[in-house]
Amino acid sequence: MNTAEGSTGLKFNEPLLWERGRPGRMGLSVPSRDVAAAPLAADLTGPGPDFPELSEVDVVRHYSRLSQWNYCIDTHMVPLGSCTMKYNPKTHERQAGLTGFCAAHPLLPASLSQGLLQILAELESFLAEITGMNAVSLQPAAGAQGELCGMLIFHAYHRAAGRQRSKIIVPDTAHGTNPASAALCNYQAVKVESGENGILLPEAVAQIMDEDTAGIMLTNPNTLGLFEEHVRAIADIVHAKGGLVYGDGANMNALMGVVDMAASGLDVLHLNLHKTFATPHGGGGPGAGPVCVKKHLERFLPVPRIVKKGKAFHLREDYPDSIGRMHAFYGNVGVMLKAYSYIVSMGADNLKKVSELAVLNANYLKERLKETLDLPYDRPCMHECVFTDKQQRAHKVTTLDMVKRLMDYGFHPPTIYFPLVVNGAIMIEPTETESKETLDRLIAAFQSIAAEAEQNPELLQTAPHHSRVRRLDETSAARKPCLAG
Ligand SMILES: *Cc1c(COP(=O)(O)O)cnc(C)c1O
Repeated sequence: MNTAEGSTGLKFNEPLLWERGRPGRMGLSVPSRDVAAAPLAADLTGPGPDFPELSEVDVVRHYSRLSQWNYCIDTHMVPLGSCTMKYNPKTHERQAGLTGFCAAHPLLPASLSQGLLQILAELESFLAEITGMNAVSLQPAAGAQGELCGMLIFHAYHRAAGRQRSKIIVPDTAHGTNPASAALCNYQAVKVESGENGILLPEAVAQIMDEDTAGIMLTNPNTLGLFEEHVRAIADIVHAKGGLVYGDGANMNALMGVVDMAASGLDVLHLNLHKTFATPHGGGGPGAGPVCVKKHLERFLPVPRIVKKGKAFHLREDYPDSIGRMHAFYGNVGVMLKAYSYIVSMGADNLKKVSELAVLNANYLKERLKETLDLPYDRPCMHECVFTDKQQRAHKVTTLDMVKRLMDYGFHPPTIYFPLVVNGAIMIEPTETESKETLDRLIAAFQSIAAEAEQNPELLQTAPHHSRVRRLDETSAARKPCLAG
């Protein structure tokens, strides 16, 4: 039985429209003239712009073929760790595309946007319920902007308490955006190393937490795909010295309905609607990174805030302690509508099941592949698992070689060389939307690649072989991009 899916090794060739065009070829027939000729003024005539001359079928085939070169979630699995490239049901696009939403102008007064404001207010309360936190702002446009918003809230909180602090503790297993967000607020990010099993230990935090530290940023599950088990104890240590605890909940897709984030001691938490709540992403957005806070930080949230008074919803700006605006209007509303549609269509039980299946799929991959690839942290994982190229290095085959070869098997490479704490990392996030058959195909591909590493390392070192372009010079591609050819 042939179980391959999508393309493995088709080479597409597509000339530019300029190369395909022939003088005089046209995509339409102009009716013959039935009025007297009126010559154009001399300064309006000339050779005209350099447009290719093509028939309709030339143009249709050109663009149809180009569209088929897309490797995307609608055609294939994208196992990028930390990115949560799940399949997004089309119905959410349809709901967000309803004319009443699409045609709503952002400058409409609240009195004419009651339905939309009600949906956004309900979404805020759903997210509060899912996380256990007390108040939510949907405004930040992405996870990293949610972090920035959180750091501004930390800053505002300490300022309101009449003090200023200069440092933020960031574990080595935090997402890379965390120290960057802290630095943007002029905080110095202080690294703390995770313990041997990849989990942050309270003792390590206790050693460096002091009264010049504004707080800690914890990614949970962390970038090793592991659950931080000591968050509560760590939060107590940080709180005892007057600090705050930030939770990076971009990967809440592993914990929905299972972990009460508020009870674990967090003061601020951001979510990525475009990961956990099924909005397509990649290619730069748009996204949404709502920020959830405990009651004592609510007054610092960005404005405007959605407030219900009697039966009517209002957008209120008069919060004197607010950090201000993070985004024009109320953020990326289209993304919020898709997340709302997703949450309502799933219901609480199914959201919990999403997390259970995401974790089950990652653990299945981890167990099935741990003989083939080195598994640096051999313990139950959450929604993703991290391997290395340690076993293949003996054959001079690296992580990069293996994932380039994976393309010949028709798979998008997983995230590689991240997290930085793992040498030669291969980070795979299957998500709950992939079937066992697809996971088995990915496993079989890695097994076959590992066998090739032993028998014919050069095949991997020179991969990919079946893609349209072979191995790229990535340094030149970044330094001297050629966007035209
Ligand atoms: C994806 C991710 C981010 C950043 O989110 P963006 O929307 O890309 O800015 C932050 N933290 C973690 C843990 C992530 O997985």
